[in-house]
Amino acid sequence: MSRVVISAAIRGATAFVAEAETNLDAAIRDRGEDHKVEFPGTAFQLPMIHALMGLEVTTLGGLKPVIAHCRELLPAEPSEKLWLPYLGAGLDAGVTALLAMEATCALRYVDAEAIEDGFTGFISDTILRELGIQLVDGRMPGFAAVLGPAPTDEVALHVVRELQKRSILTFLMCNSDGVSMRDQLARQDVELGWDTYIVPVGRDTHSAIYVLDWAIRGGLTFGGHKKGDWESCLRYCRERIFAFGITFGPIPDDWYAVGAGAIAMGFPVISDHESTPEVRPTGVTTYEALVRQTDPEQIVPTCIEVRGVKVKVEEVDIPVSFSPAFEGERIRREETYVQFGGKYSKAAELLETAELDEITDGEIIVRGQDIDAAEAGGVMDVGIHIRVAGRKMKADFDGIFERQVHRYCNEAMGFMHTGQRDQIWCRVSKTAFEAGFRLKHIGTILHAKLHDDYGAIVDKVAVTICTDPAEVQDLIDHAVPAFAARDERVAGMTDESVDTFYSCTLCQSFAPNHVCMITPERLGLCGAYNWLDGQAAYEINPTGCNQPVVKGTCIDQQRGEWEGVNQFVYDHSNRGVERFSAYSLMENPMTSCGCFECIVAIVPEANGVMIVNREYPGETPIGMPFSTLAGSVGGGAQTPGFLGVGRLYLTSKKFISAEGGLSRLVWMPKDLKEAMRERLEQCAADQGLDGFVDKIGDETVGTTSEALLEHLAKVGHPALEMDPIF
Ligand code: SF4
Ligand code: ZN
Repeated sequence: MSRVVISAAIRGATAFVAEAETNLDAAIRDRGEDHKVEFPGTAFQLPMIHALMGLEVTTLGGLKPVIAHCRELLPAEPSEKLWLPYLGAGLDAGVTALLAMEATCALRYVDAEAIEDGFTGFISDTILRELGIQLVDGRMPGFAAVLGPAPTDEVALHVVRELQKRSILTFLMCNSDGVSMRDQLARQDVELGWDTYIVPVGRDTHSAIYVLDWAIRGGLTFGGHKKGDWESCLRYCRERIFAFGITFGPIPDDWYAVGAGAIAMGFPVISDHESTPEVRPTGVTTYEALVRQTDPEQIVPTCIEVRGVKVKVEEVDIPVSFSPAFEGERIRREETYVQFGGKYSKAAELLETAELDEITDGEIIVRGQDIDAAEAGGVMDVGIHIRVAGRKMKADFDGIFERQVHRYCNEAMGFMHTGQRDQIWCRVSKTAFEAGFRLKHIGTILHAKLHDDYGAIVDKVAVTICTDPAEVQDLIDHAVPAFAARDERVAGMTDESVDTFYSCTLCQSFAPNHVCMITPERLGLCGAYNWLDGQAAYEINPTGCNQPVVKGTCIDQQRGEWEGVNQFVYDHSNRGVERFSAYSLMENPMTSCGCFECIVAIVPEANGVMIVNREYPGETPIGMPFSTLAGSVGGGAQTPGFLGVGRLYLTSKKFISAEGGLSRLVWMPKDLKEAMRERLEQCAADQGLDGFVDKIGDETVGTTSEALLEHLAKVGHPALEMDPIF
């Protein structure tokens, strides 16, 4: 960013922080630290602070760390100390301004002085849900935040009409003199309010925070991002919320600061004033921009062009909203009407290639009881059998198309899908049920989306959904050999025999920094994608989620580290992951999204590792069940000592080979051991480990480290003799 802009933003932010600090001191003096502070109608306390800092501020005292953080964050001068290293200097100041403004506005609510006639003030969660849904599913293509009055009444009218014409929601904010387009529009008898999409927000620049608070909650509510995960929250805004700011007149420092905050959220600012310096970064996106447009006729078209065209919404005929924006939506237990699979019931999905004359396109059959038969909060079995035919269809594509079920189903608001194959877990929310969502709509979604995305290959799609337990079991019995056959195809290939791996970034909607690196000897952690699938997926869609990654120069054979892979992972993890080892648990391990079939975790006392699968509900020797472990392993971060894996990786020659491989395995649930016994025995034999499988502890031996150690000593487990694991 240009120095002039950064300096102004820093000055503006400094003033916002000083103001917040003074106000806070005064409030604490008058009312004490325990006095309550809150915005009305939100479960997110002070949303910007909640999202970016992860703090749940409920008292005046709780604001103190916020001010301290602002002070820390505030750049003294234009420097390279950045809040967002990949966006550019000055945004630190912007984010600081947002936090400080929010503190000040929250303090106004303490004094009830924020409630003003004719302005909305803080925007509640209810409005967020109602309008936010339209915003993220594309019915409302975006919103505009307009600061200050237009140069003339005519320009004010022209601009709002241009925005209304495009169904863009417009927020009006006053400048520091308390003037906005509101009065200009009122003079021309323009009706204001939510219904007309023109909403006056507040009496000064500070009120901009109400609009940005509205946007940031999108990431928390619809994107499923966690508080404190500021990167994901900002990224959600940047990618999903098509918003921009318009300023009239010369830009004062405080506007520069707010503008820098908006830009950090991916909302460009368009200024009508000739004195405004332009900042248009080159790079992947152009949203982080300050753009000058002095022709009033061209202001709105410029906004739309700079912010990018609106997303295309495919028409999927179901009674709930459908959009990629809902992919990350979580459905909590209390909101669940019915669920399938997980540890609660049997559930499976299978996609198979059929002959063209075998199926009828669009045929969706539901057999057994529909979800009406369930009680609220109930559990059912479900089997989803998808058959696809097409002249260009190959059985090699089955696994790839099947894996899309995850993404497609999640795009329906109120439907959640995790897992894969015969280990899926789905929830339907009460709201979706009430809106009329039924099982057949799963078929509607899959039919529409498979045609949409793979029209060149897919001619016919038919879906059968069954809920009768016996029938679901039949489907599983039919599917398991098909899954095994897919897995077998890649058996025998080695990582050394190829110079290219495949990436998978399908799960970035949940874990934005997560990249699966799929090698012949290490499949994706969901267990549903192997190297051949990666190759086929790339053949189908060369610009999709699976890209070839040329290994390049080998940095470390033992750990499985290559220059080309490192570079790719770095570039595609939002620069979150610098180094990547394919075969190590301890050093730069692969990140995990949330789909892993199993978790490998270090058991330091035993000098080894344990593995636990999703289906195993009990305790483990490291004192945590799968569900607790999953919470700390997922999300796209590297967590040395913990690894999400596909279960087949366990019997790969490359299974944590950097740490010594299979002989490190000291504990696993009995069911998993039995299910994999044949493979494990083969693999142990190949590695010269006699009678190894029975030396691995399980829950019958114990779920405490003491019991496990006793067992390992008794059977003479090889891990005890190995080099220290770290
Ligand atoms: Fe792709 Fe990995 Fe997600 Fe599986 S877990 S879909 S391989 S990113
Ligand atoms: Zn995933």
